[in-house]
Amino acid sequence: MSKIFCVANQKGGVGKTTTTVNLAAGLAKVGQRVLLIDLDPQGNATMGSGIDKRAMETSVYDVLLESATVPEAAIFADKCGYHVLGANRELAGAEVELVEVDRREKRLKEALAAVDADYDFVLIDCPPSLSMLTLNGLCSAHGVIVPMQCEYFALEGLSDLVNTIKQVHANLNPDLQIIGLLRVMFDPRITLQQQVSDQLKDHFGDKVFDAVIPRNVRLAEAPSYGLPGVVFDPAAKGSKAFIEFAEEMVTRIGKM
Ligand code: ADP
Ligand code: MG
Repeated sequence: MSKIFCVANQKGGVGKTTTTVNLAAGLAKVGQRVLLIDLDPQGNATMGSGIDKRAMETSVYDVLLESATVPEAAIFADKCGYHVLGANRELAGAEVELVEVDRREKRLKEALAAVDADYDFVLIDCPPSLSMLTLNGLCSAHGVIVPMQCEYFALEGLSDLVNTIKQVHANLNPDLQIIGLLRVMFDPRITLQQQVSDQLKDHFGDKVFDAVIPRNVRLAEAPSYGLPGVVFDPAAKGSKAFIEFAEEMVTRIGKM
């Protein structure tokens, strides 16, 4: 049975895609069978896994519109060790096309049921909005991983996301829970970041992951090589932190 997680935060540029590709690669490295789903029409997780979004014949768009199954549309990212259900600009149109159809928020969930035995982890990279695409992700998932920077407004933004997750939990997906908050782009030399990190722990307790992802230029360089940092430069500080995070996820999920 696969465990399905959304990486979500309605803010852009907070590290969702970096978290998704590096967690996928980290989990693959520790022997897990992983499917990464790119639900952002920007296709950054697709490109960051070494798959040319412009050359894809089938993508998550086809799966949402039921013109392809997951095994038909998934591509193996061989350097990364996981499968990718990719996205490109075509996916932006799905938002409109889905308005017309039944069970529109459950399309992804139903497609994933058919590959339940094939993967240990399914990771969904969500777009920076609470759209129909994100809703499909949240309806499919057992939990949400929230990457966040320890900045003043981060806490404020979090309350919208927490409310959305509560609503989806109440109305559409009783399995859904926040798995944890991941501190990313962390710089311990900045006092404010330490303070926000402490506040997070006070407020959310063990919902804050132990692993902390530092700000690390190697993680930012890796996408231009079509690789997650964990594969591009495994010795980099940021990559090591993502491997620790992958191990922490395996342990936490074992207890779920
Ligand atoms: P999102 O998917 O939430 O929009 P991204 O993962 O694309 O965010 O990250 C935004 C930018 O920050 C990207 O340029 C990315 O390479 C960079 N970045 C993300 N995490 C780190 C990190 N830990 N250290 C340095 N740069 C990072
Ligand atoms: Mg992104």
